[in-house]
Amino acid sequence: MSMTSSLHVSARRTALRPFNYVRASNPNAAARTVAGNPRAKFLAGGTNLVDLMKEDIERPNELVDLTRLPLKEIRPLRGGVSIGALATNSETANHPLIRNNYPLLTQAIVAGASAQLRNMATNGGNLLQRTRCYYFYDIQMPCNKREPGSGCGAREGLNRIHAIFGWSDSCVATYPGDMANALYALDAIVRIRRADGSERTIPVVDFHRLPGDTPQKDTNLEHGELITAIELPKSNFAKSSYYLKVRDRASYAFALVSVAAALELDGDRVRNARVVIGSVAHKPWRSAEAEAALVRQRANEGSFREAAAAAFAGAKPLEHNRYKVDLGIRAVTRALMRAGGL
Ligand SMILES: Cc1cc2nc3c(=O)[nH]c(=O)nc-3n(C[C@H](O)[C@H](O)[C@H](O)COP(=O)(O)OP(=O)(O)OC[C@H]3O[C@@H](n4cnc5c(N)ncnc54)[C@H](O)[C@@H]3O)c2cc1C
Ligand code: SF4
Repeated sequence: MSMTSSLHVSARRTALRPFNYVRASNPNAAARTVAGNPRAKFLAGGTNLVDLMKEDIERPNELVDLTRLPLKEIRPLRGGVSIGALATNSETANHPLIRNNYPLLTQAIVAGASAQLRNMATNGGNLLQRTRCYYFYDIQMPCNKREPGSGCGAREGLNRIHAIFGWSDSCVATYPGDMANALYALDAIVRIRRADGSERTIPVVDFHRLPGDTPQKDTNLEHGELITAIELPKSNFAKSSYYLKVRDRASYAFALVSVAAALELDGDRVRNARVVIGSVAHKPWRSAEAEAALVRQRANEGSFREAAAAAFAGAKPLEHNRYKVDLGIRAVTRALMRAGGL
């Protein structure tokens, strides 16, 4: 048995801790119930939360089931589209408004998990999925994200799948999801309902956090705030985008490196570009360096390779993940080539 799997297996519990189950009748009531109990959590598809409860990592004493709330609609909005937080990943990926206008999002979603999981998993839950760091999953090991102040097992331990950008000595974990990488490239907005019934929005690029000294906080969402929708503005990237996921196995595995690449072309020149790299930081890593290097350049392999090198110039690999730099440069180049139709 590899060290990785033995770390994982040793943490397994056989029984869930007791919790109170409530079915939310409307979004405001759901937000109020969770806001009023620091140990309550929202339950959507349960594909991440229930797993973490079985591993004794998440220990809510109350689950507020969102699945009957009317937050599943995918509809046109101001030239773009609004995607309900409770729409499943499958419904979202297959919807004509998404397939036709935001193919990058469809590609990113179907690159994740399995068909069965995507039928259960919701868009809100997907954004909030937690890291796949081995030490986070093993309650015998130190982990500042799971138990603040206990240390970081991965910083000097096995860190092959960990971050090369934006990490701190407190935490070197990555955000592992696929869908969010496309949402970052598409300038999505996250719509949120609070316990008092008011709403606020967060640009998705500001939704996840870097770890700093508080890695236990994955996002800038406050306890009790309910995601109601994800909004996508009208996009000029539909014709030239590509999602590339590099992983250890061809299916059913999280990315080692992934790339959401999108180009707006003016003849053979790049007018505008998005390069978002996944599984290299505590949040999807939008590369301002790569994007700046692409604008006004000819869309060809040479300029794509230079942009990819610019994206990784500031990488700070750990002991076991230096390979992510070369792999990442090749992945960004290839994703841009595909996006540009080359
Ligand atoms: C074997 C396996 C393989 C996987 N592979 C991939 C992969 O390759 N790529 C990938 O991207 N993902 C992958 N996933 C993760 C999967 O996509 C997520 O588990 C799923 O998207 C979570 O959605 P959910 O609705 O089940 O969330 P839940 O598990 O119900 O909830 C997750 C978290 O979000 C909170 N939450 C849920 N909805 C809301 C809301 N509306 N507002 C506020 N908080 C909310 C919950 O309280 C909880 O904290 C995999 C999962 C498994 C089990
Ligand atoms: S990298 Fe983060 S999640 Fe992993 S052990 Fe360190 S603190 Fe925990």
